[in-house]
Amino acid sequence: MAFEGLADRLQNTIQKIRGKGKVNEADVKEMMREVRLALLEADVNFKVVKEFVKKVSERAVGQEVLKSLTPGQQVIKVVKEELTELMGGEQSKIAVSNRPPTVIMMVGLQGAGKTTTTGKLANLIRKKYNRNPMLVAADIYRPAAIKQLETLGKQLSMPVFSLGDQVSPVEIARQALAKAKEDHNDYVLIDTAGRLHVDEALMDELKQIKELSKPDEIFLVVDAMTGQDAVNVAQSFNEQLGLTGVVLTKLDGDTRGGAALSIRSVTNTPIKFIGLGEKMDAIESFHPERMASRILGMGDVLTLIEKAQANVDEEKAKELERKMRTASFTLDDFLEQLGQVRNMGPLDELLKMMPGANKIKGLNNLQIDEKQISHVEAIIQSMTTAEKENPEIINSSRRKRIAKGSGTSVPEVNRLLKQFEDMKKMMKQMTGMQQKGKKKGGFK
Ligand code: GDP
Repeated sequence: MAFEGLADRLQNTIQKIRGKGKVNEADVKEMMREVRLALLEADVNFKVVKEFVKKVSERAVGQEVLKSLTPGQQVIKVVKEELTELMGGEQSKIAVSNRPPTVIMMVGLQGAGKTTTTGKLANLIRKKYNRNPMLVAADIYRPAAIKQLETLGKQLSMPVFSLGDQVSPVEIARQALAKAKEDHNDYVLIDTAGRLHVDEALMDELKQIKELSKPDEIFLVVDAMTGQDAVNVAQSFNEQLGLTGVVLTKLDGDTRGGAALSIRSVTNTPIKFIGLGEKMDAIESFHPERMASRILGMGDVLTLIEKAQANVDEEKAKELERKMRTASFTLDDFLEQLGQVRNMGPLDELLKMMPGANKIKGLNNLQIDEKQISHVEAIIQSMTTAEKENPEIINSSRRKRIAKGSGTSVPEVNRLLKQFEDMKKMMKQMTGMQQKGKKKGGFK
């Protein structure tokens, strides 16, 4: 998966600052040194890294410490906000022309995934916006590109306009637009020619197609696996053609992710979509914020903090945090906290939002059914104090008794005990991770 290395490094770095009672300039400096290295290693453009580090440092130093939050969390929040900003802030939409058809010109180098993306995007436009797109095969140079688009069109039951490879792309585009008007296709996606490298002939041809078709969008398709090259390609296409957006493909692969983080900043062109596979539905709108969350592996902790602030009073939250941290959490505490935490949303989802939770094996299999929560409460209430404090003593005859007393079943009792055991295991692992960080980074 993309970003793994970067995510790992950034997460280790922020782990050290999270939970600090006080954060001083030296802490921020130290952290930013590591963030800088992590970004450079992920192949993020040098200038982008420099600017990013400067911005975060300025904001982080002297941050007011919010009453119920630790300063460490605040610094992390700044990193996340700036990372989101770097990738383009709010996500962008596709243009709609008030004089249909809306024309989308797809450009890019050979092999970037242009033809595939043309199909995917048309599919998305049809599904999401309920439109009726037409594909135009204007890549007359790459062998088999026309055939490939025709195959995709067949697969998607979508019209493909083609005049073979002996007619100029400009002429193909001209005739295609006339045909789209005639057939009432409200979107036209032109799959233009690619080359192995950016060259003048290619740009001239693309400029002519642009001149003729007056596209509402010019999307550049770039391969995320090519890292800094993708950024350079984006820059030259943008200079020559004026892009309206970038589609970053192959993010399902093992890319370091530098391109995703640099493109917007270097070219001032937003990434609008990402390709996540070869299939026609493997395309997603690009959400910078979600991507930042994913990279930091803790994004949802902010949601968690917000939820906690909205639902749990500070004292109780601190107590919960302490118990989780020290893993001194009994079934009785579980019962007591259940009510509080329940207000915050589905429990298994909350657990997954905890920092570091993504590193814990088995957490994805941990499921807590909301509907079962009242049963859970009844089960715990049917236990003796000794049982609640020491669930290991609950043998099969005790399980039967508890099931009967709570009006539930033995499998339900078993399930709860298993879940509780898993939760405790998870807390122990998290405490372990924090201990490790403590030795290295010296935080609370
Ligand atoms: P073009 O030369 O730019 O038109 O490139 P193609 O559309 O032919 O794509 C080149 C190769 O990349 C094909 O094998 C595609 O299936 C593959 N491809 C395109 N997009 C993605 C993607 O998002 N993920 C993966 N894994 N493969 C992709």
